[in-house]
Amino acid sequence: MTKKAVIILSGGLDSTTCMGIAEREGYTCYPLTFDYGQRHKHEVEQAKKVAAHYEVPQHKIVDIAFLGQIGGSALTDSSIEVPDYTGSKEVPVTYVPARNMIFLSLAAAYAEVVGAEAIYIGVSSVDYSGYPDCRPEFIRSMTETINLATQAGIKEGNLKILAPLSHLSKAQTIQLGIDLNVPYHLTTSCYRGGESACGTCDSCKLRLQGFEQAGAKDPIPYM
Ligand SMILES: [Zn+2]
Repeated sequence: MTKKAVIILSGGLDSTTCMGIAEREGYTCYPLTFDYGQRHKHEVEQAKKVAAHYEVPQHKIVDIAFLGQIGGSALTDSSIEVPDYTGSKEVPVTYVPARNMIFLSLAAAYAEVVGAEAIYIGVSSVDYSGYPDCRPEFIRSMTETINLATQAGIKEGNLKILAPLSHLSKAQTIQLGIDLNVPYHLTTSCYRGGESACGTCDSCKLRLQGFEQAGAKDPIPYM
């Protein structure tokens, strides 16, 4: 029997790199994409292309756009503007309240349904925006929680959350992805969600810096 993994796939650079890593590790990939009312909804379309590229058995897209009703983030509330990159260590307004906890909870449920033993999430605690739910201690704690919360956890006790980019810089992630032939031309990162990437929001800046430091050219169009 082949081993299966659920990949939380946004259509961005990090989660797409996780697809490449999971494939290399011999997992049959079950990508899971959330439509959470994000301003950059465009990424859901890119996630579909990434899933098709990897010829996965199934690509699950779950509509949780009701997160917009909770609001509190520039990504889910159109009245809050997406700021330009500042390099500040404060948690920025693009933080979506408890997003990764919500995503991982749903991924754990899906992992149980498809019989996956691992969940991949593309968080990094190196070149990131200071989001609390990207920290390794959160991932550790959540692993314990989902094993307590699921039938799979009781039976096997070893549902794993894998965050292989956790200690990699953006440049190291990109280097790894290039080695794994990750289709970066299909990914999108811009928070503003326009036709072309803006090049100035947090997400664009970190991505562009990463490609530059990796000595590679970002294949996607910028404004
Ligand atoms: Zn941008």
